[in-house]
Amino acid sequence: MPRLSELLFATLGAAAPSSTPAVATAAPSLSYAVDLNDRADDLFKVTLTVKGLGPDNGIYQFASTAPGTYQVMNIGRFVRGFEALDAAGARIPVEQVSVNQWRIAEPARARTIRYAIAETWDTEVEQNQVYLMCGTSIERDHVLINPHAVIGYPSGLQQAPVRLRLAYPAAWVVGTALERDGKGVYHAESYDELIDSPILLGRLTEARMMVTGVPVEIYVYSKTDKIKAPQLLGAMDDMLEAAGRFLGRLPVDRYTFLYHFEDQSAGAWEHSLSSEYVFEEGEFTDSLGQSLTDIAAHEFFHVVTPLNIHSEIIEHFNFVTPVPSQHLWLYEGTTEWAAHVMQLRAGLKSPEDYLAHTLRKIQIDRTAFDSSYSLRELALTSYSDSGQAQYANIYMRGALTAGLLDIRLLELSKGERGLQDVILELTRKFGKDRAFPEAGLVDTLVAMTYPEVRDFFARYVWESDKLPIEEYYAKLGIRLAEDADGRPVRFEIEPNPTQEQRRLREAWLGRRPRKAT
Ligand SMILES: [Zn+2]
Repeated sequence: MPRLSELLFATLGAAAPSSTPAVATAAPSLSYAVDLNDRADDLFKVTLTVKGLGPDNGIYQFASTAPGTYQVMNIGRFVRGFEALDAAGARIPVEQVSVNQWRIAEPARARTIRYAIAETWDTEVEQNQVYLMCGTSIERDHVLINPHAVIGYPSGLQQAPVRLRLAYPAAWVVGTALERDGKGVYHAESYDELIDSPILLGRLTEARMMVTGVPVEIYVYSKTDKIKAPQLLGAMDDMLEAAGRFLGRLPVDRYTFLYHFEDQSAGAWEHSLSSEYVFEEGEFTDSLGQSLTDIAAHEFFHVVTPLNIHSEIIEHFNFVTPVPSQHLWLYEGTTEWAAHVMQLRAGLKSPEDYLAHTLRKIQIDRTAFDSSYSLRELALTSYSDSGQAQYANIYMRGALTAGLLDIRLLELSKGERGLQDVILELTRKFGKDRAFPEAGLVDTLVAMTYPEVRDFFARYVWESDKLPIEEYYAKLGIRLAEDADGRPVRFEIEPNPTQEQRRLREAWLGRRPRKAT
């Protein structure tokens, strides 16, 4: 259902050209500078040079949240000493009007806006601690910038081009997917694009490879040099090649992995052209390499969704008020499923390993979370405290559900077209610049596939019916064994499946040529 405010906006937006005479003034451009040479006090010193602000640009907005985090961040909490100055350097009155908003009294006079903003890692807050991989850290030998946690924008200018200049020690290495010009200035087409690329800089190691012709870079900060970028690349290169084969070709022109290893493990955050990881430093072993690869596979697969398949809510991201999309099953559930199944289908993971991992997800879903929470409810409540408590189940129940949908699609198509194929078709149908209507995605999926798919969504995504894991894996000749109390204990692969089970199992393992689309 479209929200009223969207309808109003669409109506007003359509009427505007005829009622407003075209004015040939260029849109204000926003030039930010951040001084990273001054790192003593855990504060980023930010200066925005601007001209041409109008009455509609008088609120300086900090992000309330950011795409893909599904958490309230209220970055305004970290701002210190917000000031606006005119061309003569005289102060223009400013007033904080809400946690994330500062009103500038005479925006047209403003030439400089400056403030300091505390790093999120070392700044205590009472609630809604910003995830480490989504926050900022400013230290002696390195800096992590997630730009939404440093930079805001004048209201009305979320879509204005942005320039960003960083001052930092000459010996530092910079890892980011942002594009830099010959003068060392980073450029983004909009605030949305700017904040989509984290920046890690300092004493880093680096490594690179090509995947389906696309350059992929890895940058690593490791506190005591235990983990180096070439080691990580060595662990991940087969997975990256497998991802390339799974997708045919990568839907991006470059990709950057940023790793931060110190004394805390937090997780990872995906972006369109990069991902940021924060984990505890340890000796580099094969098992550490494998677990980092699994996580990297998940984040990397986000190049497909939400980047290339997303709803209008993601497309027009609302930094003022968090607006959830109900399709978290797709953005996170399907991504987590794909991260593992692409390794299964490439032969990097055995069916036994894949099923053991699936079993752990079933066990966690049943024991650590509220099974009455549907995937849709989980999505729609993700910005609330009760929703946050269930949120991580999207990586369990969400991935399990995607795996079941895949089996159902393979069954209905007689092994010819599973979720992998349907996802690729969706990227072609929609893509980076074309969002799907929030309310219409399931209709689209049903039209592309089978009427039975509607029933699947009704039961296992909109509602929280018990997942038919036994029933569906049995279609592949794989039995879910349970203990006396009905708790799942292991998967058993039937050595002599029926012909139908064998056919479906081969398709599930990616061993049958699928229908070309
Ligand atoms: Zn994810």
